[in-house]
Amino acid sequence: VARNRGEVEFHQAVHEVLESLDPVIAKHPHYAEGALLERLVEPERQIMFRVPWVDDAGQVHVNRGFRIEFNSALGPYKGGLRFHPSVNAGIIKFLGFEQIFKNALTAQGIGGGKGGSDFDPHGRSDAEVMRFCQSFMTELARHIGPSTDVPAGDIGVGGREIGYMFGQYKRLRNSYDAGVLTGKGLAWGGSLVRTEATGYGAVLFAQSMLSTKGESLEGKKVIVSGAGNVAIYAIEKAQQLGATPITFSDSSGYVVDEAGVDLELLKQVKEVERGRVADYVERRPGARLVTGGSVWDVPGDVALPCATQNELDGDAAATLLRGGCGVVSEGANMPSTPEAVEAFQKAGILFGPGKAANAGGVATSALEMEQNAGRTRWDFATAEAKLTGIMADIHDSCVAAAEEYGRPGDYVLGANAAGFTRVADVMIAHGIV
Ligand code: NDP
Repeated sequence: VARNRGEVEFHQAVHEVLESLDPVIAKHPHYAEGALLERLVEPERQIMFRVPWVDDAGQVHVNRGFRIEFNSALGPYKGGLRFHPSVNAGIIKFLGFEQIFKNALTAQGIGGGKGGSDFDPHGRSDAEVMRFCQSFMTELARHIGPSTDVPAGDIGVGGREIGYMFGQYKRLRNSYDAGVLTGKGLAWGGSLVRTEATGYGAVLFAQSMLSTKGESLEGKKVIVSGAGNVAIYAIEKAQQLGATPITFSDSSGYVVDEAGVDLELLKQVKEVERGRVADYVERRPGARLVTGGSVWDVPGDVALPCATQNELDGDAAATLLRGGCGVVSEGANMPSTPEAVEAFQKAGILFGPGKAANAGGVATSALEMEQNAGRTRWDFATAEAKLTGIMADIHDSCVAAAEEYGRPGDYVLGANAAGFTRVADVMIAHGIV
């Protein structure tokens, strides 16, 4: 804690993982040798840089850029870029740390990394976003590469931003290295299903958890937070599996649509118009916008937090449980606070932690890298079948690890133990590096 002062989210993430590892180390004490745990929590490299850019009025702004290259035991660093005003070194570090285990769970040969900037894309013109992305990539380009570090999107970074960054990378390197970024457009090396993958994966994970109790999502009422990439495609897959998502949210409030979310309208508002959730309510009779309180006040059978870290606290968890919620699958990274996780586990409901439940996005990014390396492109059905198989394998690895270490049904322990042992075994094989 003293070495990483003020990095509260990083402390939270490390604490959760190390606590889960107690039974693993007790059974296999060699994992604590060679300062393996100390090496695991220390990033291999952390880069911070100035990002100057000019707005449409000619004013100069200076943002801060970050890239954390946390662990390359299993492959090139892999993890998204987040553009949000809350971004700081501690947030990028927690995300990078989580990414190590998430990527290990996918079994795909990708190390852990993360990056971003405190730039806020909200309300910025396309030209401003482009100039920012070009400036950001001008520095980042020297640190990344298809076999070194492969960034992708996250909050505030979607297809538009990846496009501007790829254009600048290509220009700087005079090389069409499609595999240097994932989340690309379909016409220039992107993979079908990458856009849908994280949301789809979180719902598939919920379905797998329910299947252990002989249940399914069919007929269930689903509470979703967020209205971005993950939330939209979680809603889509939940609808395909016969469930009824009735909420979504952004930082201006949450929407309740008891008739079930009109997905086409939501996509039009958020993906095409880049509008706010209030714009949906204006065009949807029966839907209401709530600007106070929290989306977790709405009763439902399944909760899918898909916005941001620590958006679901102990009080919200208690409210959800009172409302009859029996399944939580985290589409976002670390959306539940430790108090919320404890409440879910005490109540014995199905709780899928983000590093397992939202791994479908990075897994499909690795599939994108595979297609780029082979200069090929799979159809939607092929890519989706691979994603479905990977999510089922992640679920089963978590179940098996939880059983092995004496806590059946504990997906937090299962995900941490299964991810950790994969990384740790390779770190041991590589020696003290
Ligand atoms: P988007 O930028 O597409 O959407 C984020 C959504 O969450 C927006 O509706 C945004 O509202 C809301 N939100 C973000 N920050 C806050 C905040 N501080 N308070 C309230 N609402 C907030 O991002 P994604 O959908 O890609 O990412 C969502 C989560 O999923 C993140 O935790 C991300 O790390 C995680 N994730 C994403 C993956 C991906 O493939 N995209 C992969 C794995 C995890 P507003 O617009 O008002 O800010």
